[in-house]
Amino acid sequence: MAIDLEVLDRKAAADDEVNWVTAIFMGVFHVGAIAALFFFTWKAFLVSMFLWWVSGSLGIGMGYHRLLTHRGYKTPKWVEYVLAKDKFHVWITKYHYVPMIVLGVVLFAIGGLPFLLWGVFFRTVIGLHTTWLVNSATHSWGSRRFITRDLSTNSWWVALLTFGEGWHNNHHAHPVSARHGLKWYEIDFNWYGIWALTKLGLARQVYRVKLSELRQQEEEQGAPAEARAEMVSA
Ligand SMILES: [Zn+2]
Ligand SMILES: [Zn+2]
Repeated sequence: MAIDLEVLDRKAAADDEVNWVTAIFMGVFHVGAIAALFFFTWKAFLVSMFLWWVSGSLGIGMGYHRLLTHRGYKTPKWVEYVLAKDKFHVWITKYHYVPMIVLGVVLFAIGGLPFLLWGVFFRTVIGLHTTWLVNSATHSWGSRRFITRDLSTNSWWVALLTFGEGWHNNHHAHPVSARHGLKWYEIDFNWYGIWALTKLGLARQVYRVKLSELRQQEEEQGAPAEARAEMVSA
C-alpha cells in the first residue's frame, strides 16, 4: 500500500511536552460525553449505538485492522473505500475531523442537541476507550490460549465492547486471520461482518485460522513449531 507519508508528518510532542490540540480535543469530548447523559433520549441513544457500530466495527475492526493492517481478506476497491477509504486514507488522516464535523451538523439538524451529544461526543469517547482496552486490558487480564512472546490475552468483555477485537491473544498468535474469535461462543462481530461480505460476494481470499487444523498439524508434526504460534490448548 503506497501511502505518501509526508502528509502524515506532524510535529510530535516531545516526551515532556503536552500536545495541547489533543489535550483540548480530549477534554471537550469527555465533557460532551458526560453532557450527553443529561440529554438522554432513546432515539439519540440508538443513533449513537448505530454510529458506534459503523465506526468501530465497519471502520476500525473490519476496515483498518483486519482488512488494511493485516490483509486478512480482500474486497473490491469500492468496498475498501466504504470500510476504510483508500486514496482517501491519506486525505482522511490529514482531515480526519471533516467527516466528524459534517456528521455533527447533520445530526444536530435532524435531532438537535441529544443527537449531537450522543452521536458524536458520547460515541467517540466510548469508541476511544474501548479501543484502548485492547492494548491495556487484553495485555493484562484474561486467558491465554496460545503461548506468544507477549502478554496478550483473550477477554470476552473486551471482545463484546470492541466487536471482537478482545480475542487478542488469538490475534497475536495468528495476526492475519480475519476471524479472531476461534470458537462459536467467542463472539466476534467483526468476523460476522466479514462473513456477511463473503456471502454477498464482496470479500474473497479470506484467511482464517481453524483450531481443528492447528490440532491436526500438531499431531502430524509432533512438537509445535515456533512459527506455528505455539498452541498450548484449545
Ligand atoms: Zn497487542
Ligand atoms: Zn493487529
